Amino acid sequence: MTFASGPPASSPAGPQASRLRSGAAAGRRRASRRDGSVPFIILALLLLTTSAFAQQSSITINDDLASWWRTGRMGLQYLLFKSGPLAVAAGHAAAFVRTRPESKRPDAQLYFINFSSAERGGKLHAHSGFTTSVSQCQVESRGSVHLRSADPAAPPSIRYNYLATENDRRVMVDGLKLLRRIADTPPMRDYVLDEYLPGPKVQSDADWLAFCRESGSTVFHPSSTCRMGTVVDERLRVKGVSGLRVIDASVMPSVPSGNINAAVLAVAEKGADLVRAR
Ligand SMILES: Cc1cc2nc3c(=O)[nH]c(=O)nc-3n(C[C@H](O)[C@H](O)[C@H](O)COP(=O)(O)OP(=O)(O)OC[C@H]3O[C@@H](n4cnc5c(N)ncnc54)[C@H](O)[C@@H]3O)c2cc1C
Repeated sequence: MTFASGPPASSPAGPQASRLRSGAAAGRRRASRRDGSVPFIILALLLLTTSAFAQQSSITINDDLASWWRTGRMGLQYLLFKSGPLAVAAGHAAAFVRTRPESKRPDAQLYFINFSSAERGGKLHAHSGFTTSVSQCQVESRGSVHLRSADPAAPPSIRYNYLATENDRRVMVDGLKLLRRIADTPPMRDYVLDEYLPGPKVQSDADWLAFCRESGSTVFHPSSTCRMGTVVDERLRVKGVSGLRVIDASVMPSVPSGNINAAVLAVAEKGADLVRAR
């Protein structure tokens, strides 16, 4: 599904608007075999409080975990039938969107996560809530991974350099505004009580950008630190080193626009064929 963004039809932050947390993206904790620039991705999250308490019903996984019998039911459902909330990945839904109608292709990915917590991997909020987030596709900013010494055990020097270009900043700000707009549009609006993070104090583009810089965190899709053409050749052999191949996400010549696991599997299948054919 593709959305086109634009100015909100009404005030973007009414009493039912959502809450946002922002985040910056991913770098690989692995030094490339030579110095070079590395592309990274940006991620930002939106947290919302739902009306579940008012309705005395379960809307999000926060609600299920707030009740011992719902928690038990959820566990049993999974154990007995391999179904229910525990059988679903954290990201229940995603959309690739154009943040501006004139964009030729989607430039942002939106995520919907049916729970909320103060920190990633942390305890869920006691109140009902869910999270939405945005990450940019085709990121222009480039970070770097440099060797710091000849000691192979020494950690590399990693510079993320997020939000370094005007376009990257613009896409993230527009993506966050789009999340708020969706949360304030039926049928989502009917389920939203309040924006928990960042809340209505964030209104201007400068506010959004500051929020993105402060609250951004990485997403789990590092790639391209041993990119094909620079570090490895087209048969995934490390240039200048005989008998060594790299077959993983790091050989991708450019950062994929979406989640990368399918592309990693394709690299692995092709790499296995190349090794066998050697
Ligand atoms: C929490 C999380 C959630 C994710 N969710 C999604 C998702 O929903 N969708 C999606 O598409 N992608 C997702 N990803 C990304 C995807 O899982 C990764 O991009 C992918 O697994 C990368 O594959 P890889 O082979 O490059 O590296 P890895 O999967 O990290 O494999 C590297 C392997 O090398 C081994 N290893 C490391 N060091 C050594 C050593 N010195 N000697 C021998 N072996 C070693 C490790 O044990 C590991 O098995 C997620 C990643 C994480 C961390």
